[in-house]
Amino acid sequence: MTRNTVEKTSVTLLGLGAMGTALARAWLAAGHPLTVWNRTPARAAAVAAEGARVADSAAAAVAANPLVVVCLLDDASVGEALAGTDLAGRDLVNLTTCTPAQARARAEWARARGAGYLDGGIMAVPPMVGVPQAGGYVFYSGSREVFERHRETLAVPVGTTYVGQDAGFAALHDVALLSAMYGMFAGAAHAFALIRKEDIDPTSFAPLLADWLVAMAPAVHRTADRLRSGDYTEGVVSDLAMQVAGTPTFLSTAEQQGVSPELLGPYFALMRRRLAGGGGDEDLTGLIDLLVR
Ligand code: NDP
Repeated sequence: MTRNTVEKTSVTLLGLGAMGTALARAWLAAGHPLTVWNRTPARAAAVAAEGARVADSAAAAVAANPLVVVCLLDDASVGEALAGTDLAGRDLVNLTTCTPAQARARAEWARARGAGYLDGGIMAVPPMVGVPQAGGYVFYSGSREVFERHRETLAVPVGTTYVGQDAGFAALHDVALLSAMYGMFAGAAHAFALIRKEDIDPTSFAPLLADWLVAMAPAVHRTADRLRSGDYTEGVVSDLAMQVAGTPTFLSTAEQQGVSPELLGPYFALMRRRLAGGGGDEDLTGLIDLLVR
């Protein structure tokens, strides 16, 4: 067989929102036969023009191919769209953002209907889809068999990272990374607020801030090592006692600049609580244990 005659896996895709449309285009561009369905039919016109077959119902779309990918608004819309479809013998890949508990329940739901189930958390925005150098990927969890069976097809729009048989792990990884992102954005917001009223050009400040965040990011590896070893004190260079002693400087500076401490305050409160509990010679890893209830 020559390269051109290798059959590409046929895909059914439910959901042609911004993300679904980007996924559809990537599969079509790579030569995968694609059947699509969208609740609002008009949204299918663009991908139909690029070669997608448009099913007139979700049930017909599901019946068209063994691999069924859904990318809808939320878990409730997945339940609604798939109600009345026959999933027996299908491999259901759910790229809809949901909680770990919703993903686990959806995996059970699919199993009860005779379908294999793989959950996905998309770490990309639509313009990154179909652009390998953009670095987007999807966390997958659930059936390893389903993942292995469709690995190459799933890797067409964005990269794939399988994180375990527990169907909830993809959503958990997704939310964990995005939560860290919001923490970073919170820190950046506070930093910009500090300089906001001064004669400092934010566009000159931004590269300094970005470089600093990048320089600090590898600290997560030391945190992980300490969580694994259980020793939060070995090799610590900036201990908690010293860092807590520095917090009045940060709070006074915020006050002097007329900036609310509402983003930094809760983190400093955790630091003080850990110090009061005897963690003065640790780094900041012990704060994680205070968060876990
Ligand atoms: P859009 O809002 O653009 O599209 C939502 C899709 O869900 C549409 O196809 C809509 O159909 C459909 N839908 C909504 N409710 C129902 C329902 N009750 N029954 C059937 N279909 C329904 O969202 P996106 O495409 O951007 O996002 C899709 C998923 O991808 C979400 O879970 C999102 O969190 C995730 N995601 C999106 C990213 C992004 O940047 N866009 C990034 C990472 C993940 P209709 O056209 O009829 O309204």
